[in-house]
Amino acid sequence: MDIQKRVDSLLKEVPPGVTVVAATKTRSAEEIMEVIDSGVKAIGENYVQEAESKFRTIGKKADWHMIGHIQKNKAGKAFEIFDMVETLDNIKLAEILNRSACAKGIIYPVLIEINSGREKGKSGVFPEEAVDLITGMSKFHNLKIQGLMTMGPFFENPEDIRPFYRLVRRLFEELKTAGLPNSEMKYLSMGMSDTWRIAIEEGASIIRLGTTIFGPRKG
Ligand SMILES: *Cc1c(COP(=O)(O)O)cnc(C)c1O
Repeated sequence: MDIQKRVDSLLKEVPPGVTVVAATKTRSAEEIMEVIDSGVKAIGENYVQEAESKFRTIGKKADWHMIGHIQKNKAGKAFEIFDMVETLDNIKLAEILNRSACAKGIIYPVLIEINSGREKGKSGVFPEEAVDLITGMSKFHNLKIQGLMTMGPFFENPEDIRPFYRLVRRLFEELKTAGLPNSEMKYLSMGMSDTWRIAIEEGASIIRLGTTIFGPRKG
């Protein structure tokens, strides 16, 4: 099956109000263009350097989401490429992004990444740390916190991830009610190729799909 057919049947199934982000790591600029031409409006890259070369070819034909961990020395470059960072999880990165946004005179959207599985060595803050991070960011007037993102642990049985999505949804609702500064809980990014239907049932408004759109990754 080709990309166009995959995207067609996907977009028929995704409810209105849910944004599909094509997870494009390892995919070529040509493949990504095909996805954009098929009607996907947002793409997500994991590495600044990989995104940079594709950005030179593709440019602003799509919304660029950063969905991987950002090293601090790549933050300035990330800011230039991406329309939104989904993986903000520390105050230092927030400070750098805020400074770039301030210099450009824009308000830059970010999502807070939650390590919902409390996994060692994984990105994201633990759920109970989110309020402190958001509060600590209240002085960064050029950032707008627009929601939460989570990966969750990998399971053989996709259904096993549901409690983790549910936990992040609950946090999302709590933060919405809390009304913290610079923070508007608008997007909940969770769900990948084998879990996106579950994620939508649990309240996701952004899903990030690689394999569903492109087929299996090579190598
Ligand atoms: C690769 C990736 C995805 C998509 O993975 P698939 O299983 O191929 O759909 C989603 N989110 C992040 C952060 C990723 O790195």
